[in-house]
Parts: sequence; C-alpha cells; structure tokens
Amino acid sequence: MNYKSLEDIAKDVKKCKKCDLYKTRNNSVPGIGKDKNKIIFVGEAPGAEEDEKGIPFCGRGGRLLRNTIKKIGIKEDEVYITNLVKCRPPNNRKPTKNEINSCNKYLKEEIRIINPNITVLLGKTAIKKQYEDVKLKEKHGKIIDKEESKYLLTYHPAAILRNQTKIETFIDDLKKIKSGNNL
Ligand code: URA
Ligand code: SF4
Repeated sequence: MNYKSLEDIAKDVKKCKKCDLYKTRNNSVPGIGKDKNKIIFVGEAPGAEEDEKGIPFCGRGGRLLRNTIKKIGIKEDEVYITNLVKCRPPNNRKPTKNEINSCNKYLKEEIRIINPNITVLLGKTAIKKQYEDVKLKEKHGKIIDKEESKYLLTYHPAAILRNQTKIETFIDDLKKIKSGNNL
C-alpha cells in the first residue's frame, strides 16, 4: 500500500510485526522530521537508547551526527532522520537480509513522500541496500543518482566515534550535501 503521510507510516511502524524484531524491541523507531525536510539521513537500525525512547539517533552517535549537521550550517529542523530498519536488533547485531527486506517498504515510502533533494546513506548497511556493496574508504563522499534521487555515501557516526581521526572526513563528506541539495 502507498501511504498518504509520514504520520501514517509512523503509525504502522509503531505496531508493526512484519519481522521477528518486534519480539525483542521496547519501542519501534519511526523516522523523525517533516515532509518539507528535503535532506534525509538514513542509518542502520536503532540502538539501545533509540529503542528505549522511540526516537532515531538520540544516543551518542546521534549527538555526533546532529552536531556535525549543525557545524556545516544546516538546521536540525531542516532534516529528516530515519533508519533502514526501524526496530533494534538484539545486542546491536547487524540486521539480517530478511529483516531489511521486511522493513524496506517504510523507507521507500518515506523517500517517496518527502521527495528529497538528497538522501545521505550512513554506513555500509544502508548503502548496500539502496545502492551496492562499496568500499567506503574509496567511495565515501560520492553522490550517486538512482531512480531520479540523489544519494550521498558516507560513514556511519558510530564508525567516527570508534575512530575520531575520521571526523574531518565526515564533515567534508556532509558539506557535499550543499552541492547535492542545490542550496
Ligand atoms: N545507529 C543507527 O544506525 N541508528 C540510530 O538511530 C542510532 C544508532
Ligand atoms: Fe516491522 Fe521493521 Fe520493526 Fe521488523 S524492523 S518489526 S519490519 S518495523
């Protein structure tokens, strides 16, 4: 089914049982933002804090992401933030192919409704689903066109937290939003 609004997607995400992740979640985590926000960020899956609060990127990685967005001169209320998979995988394991496929309709619909100027894919898991398996060392910062949408490939904020020397690279990648977004 095609959704009419982001609110309708969120309602279904809240009660979704399409994959087994519903059994272990505390809260499913719909995207946050408005359909006028023409920049979308897509992470992998909620972590512990997101699962507790039902809000995407509200933990440490989220703070780094939100601070970096601010640093490059984009306001937080200009962006829509979501995940490839909307429920937390136990122990933060990577979501399985089956879980990703079960959940993908929601992301596709978020992108269709928002019709963004650019979608930022954070990390390999999100990139692999929307585009292809890439070596991020070689392809980070690249903007690709697919099905009339622009996607920017970059690292996941958790990777930056693990290796803080990459922060400048991450900032430089995100600065490309402006060229992709025609701001
Ligand atoms: N990591 C993600 O990929 N998404 C979140 O919402 C939080 C951490
Ligand atoms: Fe539904 Fe996605 Fe949660 Fe699976 S991960 S239960 S498909 S919302």
